Amino acid sequence: MTDTNLSAVLYKVQHLRLVDRPIPEPKQGEVQISMRTVGICGSDVHYWHSGAIGHFVVKAPMLLGHECAGVVSKVGEGVTNLKEGDRVAIEPGVPCRQCELCKDGRYNLCPDVFFLATPPDSGALARYHTHAADFVFKLPDNVSFEEGSMIEPLSVGLHACRRAGVKLGGRVMVCGAGPIGLCAMLCAKAMGAAGVCMTDIDPKRLEFARKVGATSTVLVDTKDVEEVAAKVRVALGGAPDFSIEASGAQFCVELGVVTTKTGGTFVVVGHGPTHVQIPIVNTVAREIAIKGSFRYVNTWPAAIAMISSGKINVKPLVTHRFQLEETMDAFNTAKSGVGVKVMINCERQ
Ligand SMILES: [Zn+2]
Ligand SMILES: [Zn+2]
Repeated sequence: MTDTNLSAVLYKVQHLRLVDRPIPEPKQGEVQISMRTVGICGSDVHYWHSGAIGHFVVKAPMLLGHECAGVVSKVGEGVTNLKEGDRVAIEPGVPCRQCELCKDGRYNLCPDVFFLATPPDSGALARYHTHAADFVFKLPDNVSFEEGSMIEPLSVGLHACRRAGVKLGGRVMVCGAGPIGLCAMLCAKAMGAAGVCMTDIDPKRLEFARKVGATSTVLVDTKDVEEVAAKVRVALGGAPDFSIEASGAQFCVELGVVTTKTGGTFVVVGHGPTHVQIPIVNTVAREIAIKGSFRYVNTWPAAIAMISSGKINVKPLVTHRFQLEETMDAFNTAKSGVGVKVMINCERQ
C-alpha cells in the first residue's frame, strides 16, 4: 500500500476510517515527527464508540491517538532542543504557557490547552504528526518506541503518586488494575512504597498485576465496602497511607475513603459517573484528604529517566501489537478488554 500520510480519522461515533492526508509541515517552534508507535487509550476507544467523554464531544472529524513516540523528521524555525533523526516521546498536552495556572507550574489545569485526540483537538495516529518542540522529549538509546509511548499512561500514574505524596515505606492501595492503575502501582513502588495492594473485580487482571509487581491484591467480589477494606488492611499489614482510585467505580470512591488510614490521602484519577456519593462523616472525622489528579505535569523527564535506568519496567504492559493498516482490529481488541495495552506501529512497512 502506498500512501502519503495514512491517518486514523474518527468522522463521527463508530466511524473510524484510515484515510490518506497531506504530510503536515512544522510551523515555528514545532517539529515534524515520523510516527513509530501509538498506544490505544481507554479514551480513544470511548470517543470511537460513544463519541464523547463528559463535555468533550466529537463534533468534527479528528485523528485519534495520544500515546506516541517517533523520530524527528523535520525541524521548524527556532527549534533548538531537537534535531532530525532524534528518537522522541511526545507529551500530548500543549498548554498556553501564559495563564496563571501555567505560570504556577500547574499547566495540566490550563484552560487553554491543546490536547491530542481530545475534541476539538486532533490526535497523532498517523504516519506523520507535527508538535510543539518543547513538549517533545528525546529518548535515550536504551528506551524503545513502545516504552516511549507508555510514558503517557505512566505519567498519569506518576502524577497521581505525586499528588498523593507517596513516600519511602508507605503503604499504598490502588483501585482498578487497568493500565493506569498498573502504572500508578509501578510508580508507587519506585517512589519507595513498602507495599502496594491492588483491587479489581477481575481475578485475571489481579493475577497480571501480581506478575508485574503488585505486592498484594484483593478481589472485589462483594458489595460490602468494610469487608474489602478489612482484606486490604490485612494484605498491607495496616491501613494504606495513600490510596489511588483508578477504576471510575462508585464503590471504589467509598472504598478509598473507608480504607485509607486516618489522616491519610485519597487521590481520585478514575473518571466514572459525574456524581458519586462520598461517606462525608468518615472523611471529615478522620481527616481524609481527597484530591483530584488530572493528566500530568513535568513527568516526561522523570519517566524517561526511570525507564532508562531500569527502575520502572513498562514493557510487560504491552500485550498486543498491530500495524497502522490494522487499526480497526487494534481498536476492536482494545474494546474487547483482552490484555492491557494495545500498541499500533505507524512505520510504513
Ligand atoms: Zn492515555
Ligand atoms: Zn495556560
